[in-house]
Amino acid sequence: MMTNARADAPPAPDAARLTIDLAALKANWRTLDRFAAPGSCAAVVKADAYGLGITRAVPALWEAGARDFFVAHLAEAEHVRAAAPEANIWLLNGLQPGLASALRALDVRPVLGSWPEIEEWTASGGGPAALHVDTGMNRLGLTLEDAAEAGSRFVCGTLGFTPALIMTHAATADEDAHPLTPLQVDRFRAVRTLFPKVPASLANSAASLTAAIDRFDLCRPGIALYGGTARGARPETKPVVSLHAPVLQVREVPAGEGVGYGAAEFTKRASRIAILNIGYADGIPRAAGSSEARAGASVVLAGQRCPLFGRISMDLTAVDVTHLPEGAVKRGDLAEVLGHTIGVDELAAHAGTIGYEILTSLGKRYQRIYRTD
Ligand SMILES: *Cc1c(COP(=O)(O)O)cnc(C)c1O
Repeated sequence: MMTNARADAPPAPDAARLTIDLAALKANWRTLDRFAAPGSCAAVVKADAYGLGITRAVPALWEAGARDFFVAHLAEAEHVRAAAPEANIWLLNGLQPGLASALRALDVRPVLGSWPEIEEWTASGGGPAALHVDTGMNRLGLTLEDAAEAGSRFVCGTLGFTPALIMTHAATADEDAHPLTPLQVDRFRAVRTLFPKVPASLANSAASLTAAIDRFDLCRPGIALYGGTARGARPETKPVVSLHAPVLQVREVPAGEGVGYGAAEFTKRASRIAILNIGYADGIPRAAGSSEARAGASVVLAGQRCPLFGRISMDLTAVDVTHLPEGAVKRGDLAEVLGHTIGVDELAAHAGTIGYEILTSLGKRYQRIYRTD
């Protein structure tokens, strides 16, 4: 079954089509859940489920078996609560001043990472929350000294609340053999002994899929659920997102002509150029364009890879199809911009960024199609 999920979006029969494969999302969660055994697997659905649509992703993940959902913002927690009334919802960015009662009303568990947060949560009545310990990323979380103090208060019963989870975040799990990863794991093992019987969580996608890294009790993958790779070979997860843009025109361009803004790239021979109905306003990074100095990204037309030609415009992108037989590409055809051939990480690499940024920048004016079979 396919549905266009954005009730508020105007129909966009002429726009590029973003297809989100919820069956692949579910399969990816199950794969990660198997890897997490004997521990269990959560789902990180912050930033609108990495741009894929939190209101559609959460029910699919719940059906697959996910019970713990991590978000960054309270508004995201509201979406999860509406979509999965029984879920455990964890607020990664912690407790901001004055928000304890709003969290409690939604039964959201803050990930507490400083004494002021702990004190405010405790003063407001406590309740389940996670404790975030910084083991070397220097972003959020209690220092190791503060974690030791919190641990002794916990053991004496004076912490003021019972941590339902202790967690840390790995900074370098996506880099093979980075020395910080085992150091963080060792520090976290030590922290864990201070909180007897409290479940522990360390692993993002990269760590979740790395057998050599201790995954503790609860994995917290995001990107791997959505078909992105957090490290090199990752055959186990399936692409979730595909993006197809219609061809508006196919034009013959003589040799020696510039194409697009700035005439940044010249035809070296008589060329055939297809113009696609997609641009940087749709989240295709302008940095992935092509120029005399540097090759850009590719798309797939008529089953063949075709390189972008010249700069990416706001609403249009030019593609070189000279190597395809005449007539192989025509007005109305759909080019694969992302999909089984062109992965999010490939497009990202051409723009000097990561798959995470491609997904969370996906455009707002696509036809969004959610596949459930
Ligand atoms: C975003 C985030 C994750 C998920 O990271 P991926 O690399 O997408 O798997 C896990 N834990 C924390 C604390 C995060 O901020």
